[in-house]
Amino acid sequence: MNGNTSKIQAVDSAHYFHPFTDHQALAAKGSRIIEKADGIYIWDSKGEKILDAMSGLWCVNVGYGRQELVDAAAKQMQVLPYYNSFFSTTNVPAVKLAERIVKLAGDNFSHVFFSSSGSESNDTNIRMVRHYWATLGHPERKIIISRKNAYHGSTMAGASLGGMSYMHEQGGLPIPDIVHIEQPYFYGLAHDKNKDAFGIEAAGWLEAKILEVGADKVAAFIGEPVQGAGGVIIPPRTYWPEIQRICDKYGILLICDEVICGFGRLGYWFGSELMGAKPDLMTFAKGVTSGYIPLGGVVIGKRVAKVLIEQGGEFNHGYTYSGHPVACAVALANIDILEKEGLVDRVRNETGPYLAQKFAELADHPLVGGAETCGLVAGFALMKDPQQHIGFDESVGAGMRCRNHCFANGLIMRAVGDRMIIAPPLVITKAQIDDMMVLIRKCLDATLEELKTGGFLSN
Ligand SMILES: *Cc1c(COP(=O)(O)O)cnc(C)c1O
Repeated sequence: MNGNTSKIQAVDSAHYFHPFTDHQALAAKGSRIIEKADGIYIWDSKGEKILDAMSGLWCVNVGYGRQELVDAAAKQMQVLPYYNSFFSTTNVPAVKLAERIVKLAGDNFSHVFFSSSGSESNDTNIRMVRHYWATLGHPERKIIISRKNAYHGSTMAGASLGGMSYMHEQGGLPIPDIVHIEQPYFYGLAHDKNKDAFGIEAAGWLEAKILEVGADKVAAFIGEPVQGAGGVIIPPRTYWPEIQRICDKYGILLICDEVICGFGRLGYWFGSELMGAKPDLMTFAKGVTSGYIPLGGVVIGKRVAKVLIEQGGEFNHGYTYSGHPVACAVALANIDILEKEGLVDRVRNETGPYLAQKFAELADHPLVGGAETCGLVAGFALMKDPQQHIGFDESVGAGMRCRNHCFANGLIMRAVGDRMIIAPPLVITKAQIDDMMVLIRKCLDATLEELKTGGFLSN
């Protein structure tokens, strides 16, 4: 197998331009070839078994190897592999899925717009909210307020809405009329304050920004219920209700980006339900098909749908693959699994609380600060001295060192700076959570050893 691995690595390096990758660095060490997967595990070309505590990229909610999804795709491909929804046509899986998602989303919603990814869906959101306001006679309401370290995708629109400064550095971003406020990162910004009070304070940054740019110019606020790629930033429980109050006060539309939080990740069908927000629009992707096939979209609230439908005329926007029948058929089968196996409730009542307990126990590790979970997302900060709340200098690269140990020890855990984060498949059992925690501790110990040897710890 090894010989084959190096051959594929050479061709990979010669011809495959990867997303979010430094190619010189990758060429030096060679990429890891993932060959197969089952349940919560993946296997590489060297036969190594790896616990995928990131569900791919936060998406394989029902786990790998689900025959039901394979069958749904094959069956739909035989009947109708493709047709579009432009020019007054439709297809049955798209219709059924729209109805199903609206039911799951609740009474505030009436329609679904389909795309093939989270990025595309957020592009749609920008066009939709600006068209909404223009239709109501307020074309000057264009500004969308987002947050630092938010992740809303990687297209021009998605990366602009996102608050990743390293992404803005390339390609002339953000596009006009998108502004950002600070994220509600309690452990990083305010650990010595009262948490609930900090939630109110952090939401207040939205109001300050609205007043700064002019309330009559703001179209919408967008936020992930729990920030994912920004490092699993779980806001204080007071945050979202206060955000909602502020949006209502100024009549601003609220967009919840549910690409990670949706479809059970937080123990609810949508994270905004848990957080106490009532969004006008919800972005979804990833978990809707458990990543088996690309699909995304926007769930449209009645307030917006009514205006667009009754007064908006033609919406001059859509994708070739909007409402793709195969993707929608897979999504329906995926939702069947989530419902039949009670996975959303299991996260809320069983595996989520169990993971929370296990993460709380991590506090006894000398490198771990601010360990927190919400449903089946979790994170902690690697700290030089957690007691004194002293972190590592960025140059130490503590997160990368830890991630390398995970890689070498059969665990996919992601590093965001010095925050280590996980989002395992929703099918993970308590026993498998135990296995995962053993691996996490093993990797933390190895990281501790390396940092001690390197002289990065005082004792
Ligand atoms: C991944 C992600 C996106 C982008 O989705 P793509 O399918 O990669 O375009 C958008 N928003 C959030 C919250 C995400 O996590």
